[in-house]
Amino acid sequence: MQSDTCNHVLKHDECTGCGACYNICPKDSITMQMDSEGFYYPVVNEEGCLNCGLCLKVCKNERVSTADIRKAYAVNAYDDELRKRSSSGGVFGLISSYILQNGGYVFGAGFDEHFNVRHECIDNEEELDRVLRSKYAQSSIGSVFKEIKQKLLEDSYVLFCGTPCQCKGLCNYLGKSYEKLLIIDFVCHGVPSPGIWQQYLSEFNKKPVKVNFRDKSHGWKGYYINIDFEDGSNYLRNGAEDEYIQGFLWDIYLRPSCYRCDVKDNNRYSDLTIADFWGINEVEADMNDNKGTSLVVTNTVKGENYYKECIEGNSKNISVNLKDAMKRNVSYYEKAHLTDERKCFYKLYYKGKGNKKLAGIVKNFTKPGIFGKIRRKMNYKKAHISF
Ligand SMILES: Cc1cc2nc3c(=O)[nH]c(=O)nc-3n(C[C@H](O)[C@H](O)[C@H](O)COP(=O)(O)OP(=O)(O)OC[C@H]3O[C@@H](n4cnc5c(N)ncnc54)[C@H](O)[C@@H]3O)c2cc1C
Ligand code: SF4
Ligand code: SF4
Repeated sequence: MQSDTCNHVLKHDECTGCGACYNICPKDSITMQMDSEGFYYPVVNEEGCLNCGLCLKVCKNERVSTADIRKAYAVNAYDDELRKRSSSGGVFGLISSYILQNGGYVFGAGFDEHFNVRHECIDNEEELDRVLRSKYAQSSIGSVFKEIKQKLLEDSYVLFCGTPCQCKGLCNYLGKSYEKLLIIDFVCHGVPSPGIWQQYLSEFNKKPVKVNFRDKSHGWKGYYINIDFEDGSNYLRNGAEDEYIQGFLWDIYLRPSCYRCDVKDNNRYSDLTIADFWGINEVEADMNDNKGTSLVVTNTVKGENYYKECIEGNSKNISVNLKDAMKRNVSYYEKAHLTDERKCFYKLYYKGKGNKKLAGIVKNFTKPGIFGKIRRKMNYKKAHISF
């Protein structure tokens, strides 16, 4: 009889899908399977399982947070081209280039050929664009933690960038710190469902060939989602008008663990935390050029050293007060809001599946009628969106 696997002990909304269990299983007895809401969860194949308990142990490892210092900076990379290709001020690109130039490896989120979001490894600057920019769907980690360990054992420099819970999963999986590993997380609003993302894409009824969630052709602040299709057509829509982005920002289809997220504020497992510096106009008007400004928080001495080595000399930057920096970015410390709207959305979605478009269903929640507006007001004490 089995009792000690992650499947038997973990509650549904406790699992972040970080993939630590998938990576640690010595028998490859765990697969990540999509649930009815479109999120991946580990499923143990009991036939192959040794009942060794490693998956549960790695999940409950609870290594202490790595954060020991917290300095905050506003950063605009000098390289305008890099800033244009990045979500915010280009910080991730600057550090990645440094690691790659030193023969290291960068693990970040990219797209597969069907535009599923998943982590991948790059080892040269020509491939950097693949892992630049935010992808607004939960990324699959696959076997990346195993690959990272292998690279570290070969004494290579490694940069990993992911959600705060993926960073925690990586630390739990490795079980000890490595001098040559740099971990970067970001201020995380929450991750939307990969299944819903694919449903949204499929409703265009044509093959996408390029997706950019952070198109800056109209500036950084009112960013656009930009999709190129095989037939030469294009979809360019302001995030405030696109139903998928709105459903994400209104917390309608985030992973259940995002509503009880425990890796907020200073409970970090990263050396650096990066974010969009919303509100830069109130803090340092000189840097407010609408090309994108990053907020960087150095959590460890290692993070601070990397900041000095890779960012300080390559950007316009200024040291800022962390509290001021977070005024317009409550996701740094506040969890996503779990409301009845999420339940209603999934109910309507299943009811309408096959004959009603996702966008039409999402509109009920993002552009509600009068009763919806009242309900929303009651549900959200503070809007925490950036458009
Ligand atoms: C789901 C999600 C929610 C976010 N919420 C906020 C928020 O509330 N407030 C805020 O200020 N910033 C948020 N960010 C971060 C922000 O969008 C920028 O990524 C950040 O400012 C870094 O910008 P950059 O230009 O330095 O790097 P970028 O060029 O954006 O590169 C960032 C790196 O982030 C990682 N990444 C991208 N997508 C994913 C993903 N789906 N899963 C895991 N890792 C990923 C990749 O490794 C990528 O290489 C969020 C990002 C994501 C993916
Ligand atoms: S108990 Fe061990 S063998 Fe079984 S799924 Fe977990 S890690 Fe794999
Ligand atoms: S909000 Fe928390 S649980 Fe959700 S993806 Fe971000 S770090 Fe993970």
